[in-house]
Amino acid sequence: MKVLTIGAGIAGLTAARRLQENGHAVTVLDKGRAPGGRMATRRVLNGDADRPELAELAFDHGAQYCTVRDARFAREVEEWHKARAAQPWHGKLAAFDSEGREPVDDGHARWVGVPGMSAIARHLARGLDVLCNARVTALDLDSGPGASAWHASLADGRTIGPFDTVVASLPAPQAVPLVAASPTLSRAVGAVRMHPCWAVMVAFDDRVATPFDAAFVTASPLGWLARDRSKPQRGLAETWVLHASADWSAAHLDDDADVVGPFLLNAFADLVRARLPLPVHLAAHRWRYACGHPPAHHGALVDADLRLAACGDWCAGNRIEGAFLSGLAAADALLAQREGR
Ligand SMILES: Cc1cc2nc3c(=O)[nH]c(=O)nc-3n(C[C@H](O)[C@H](O)[C@H](O)COP(=O)(O)OP(=O)(O)OC[C@H]3O[C@@H](n4cnc5c(N)ncnc54)[C@H](O)[C@@H]3O)c2cc1C
Repeated sequence: MKVLTIGAGIAGLTAARRLQENGHAVTVLDKGRAPGGRMATRRVLNGDADRPELAELAFDHGAQYCTVRDARFAREVEEWHKARAAQPWHGKLAAFDSEGREPVDDGHARWVGVPGMSAIARHLARGLDVLCNARVTALDLDSGPGASAWHASLADGRTIGPFDTVVASLPAPQAVPLVAASPTLSRAVGAVRMHPCWAVMVAFDDRVATPFDAAFVTASPLGWLARDRSKPQRGLAETWVLHASADWSAAHLDDDADVVGPFLLNAFADLVRARLPLPVHLAAHRWRYACGHPPAHHGALVDADLRLAACGDWCAGNRIEGAFLSGLAAADALLAQREGR
């Protein structure tokens, strides 16, 4: 099969690898500058810095870590570890609610990409034909004499194809226009709702004096905060990532990033009841489609007649692990169909 995978997040890369390992020719397109999607690392050059450790900053502003439940994902994470793309993170966790703060020890091992979350995607993309800065605007099924084939139109005016099979591995609302040829997929994908998340990236000129490195938060505009620097192989700068709650993010979806950053930084100071050190970098990023709500458990959605699959974390319980399993499910369904199983 000639396969087009749209989206180079973990779901798309997993599907692409599986199909390529089984002898198929796979092209992956992504609108971003690099593979990874929401498993992302933002690098910032801070030219005005007067200390070397503040000159180049990095933040995991999307996914923070992954946990492992499924045996197939456990084997995959072990591969990442062997390839030096991931390591366990032993940050001290806490939980804040309206009553106060308490430590968290839920027994989960937490894995992070090294030196940033995007390293995992870079590892997965090795050996694949991945084209970045390639936003797909339309997907058309052209019926030729004998067989039909897929063509993709890109935002820069190019059309690429033909492909026998397409895997759409994007957040559901972004996949909707691309699966329009399939009434079944359109219905199922169109029914999925995804929450937004505002993420704040802040670097301080000194250590934030908290006895924890990360916290789950309720009863606040914030939902999560983490000292990025506490993860393995990060720089020496005191970097933090603050995630707003889903409700706050939805209510402030169209706010200006320059307003959101300082507001959530204040919420951080209120929460930890401390005078924070001086921020040397502050920026906010809006993830419009951060996580599926409620989480669905389809594995992957496949229209066998059209040779079109949709997958992503929203299809398999959210999270990095869900995205991996969904990409695997999409590839396996297409392989089984090909083999007439
Ligand atoms: C703020 C935040 C915090 C999170 N924290 C965690 C966490 O701690 N642990 C955890 O397990 N999970 C977490 N997640 C969820 C995790 O990031 C996702 O489950 C996972 O990364 C999703 O992978 P995916 O491949 O399904 O989708 P994505 O990573 O979204 O990949 C989709 C890709 O499609 C591309 N794309 C979109 N439209 C087009 C188009 N038209 N043409 C071409 N390309 C396109 C995008 O650029 C993107 O690269 C978090 C997510 C967010 C946003």
